[in-house]
Amino acid sequence: MGIVLASIDTAPPPVVLPVAAKQAKRPPANPQKFAVENRASAIDGMGAFAAEAIPAYKKIGEIRGESITVREAHKRVRGQARIMMIEVSDKRAVDASASTDALRYTNHSCTPNTVLRIRQGRVEIYAMRAIAVGEELTADYGETHHAGTLRCRCGAANCRGAL
Ligand SMILES: [Zn+2]
Repeated sequence: MGIVLASIDTAPPPVVLPVAAKQAKRPPANPQKFAVENRASAIDGMGAFAAEAIPAYKKIGEIRGESITVREAHKRVRGQARIMMIEVSDKRAVDASASTDALRYTNHSCTPNTVLRIRQGRVEIYAMRAIAVGEELTADYGETHHAGTLRCRCGAANCRGAL
């Protein structure tokens, strides 16, 4: 007969977790990281301007709005001169018409200082370079529903001339 070592049950006793207190639904954290203000733009209508210095590559904020289908988006933009619609995938779009996010007034420039990044249906805007206080924020819209029929007034040396 060998020596029988005291058998120790190493399995931890079952832990009864208390029923999690119902988490109060918190509002999502504010995605706007830098102060942006809206005022008249030399490019077009209203613009979005940096109200504080923004370092290069930082997330400036987001353009939020109503999440709709691309089909619905196309219906809504028809016949409208000024649109605030961003396609976030081949199926979904964000209608920022009723949004209060200052970044929704970001104008197009052929030499932009910000870049739009679509992530999980969210429209994020990042600084492509350091942006000084008072500079207008611009993004390259890429393809628009104007299909090259809208004259571009961005004033950049390499302006493509149309949107
Ligand atoms: Zn241009």
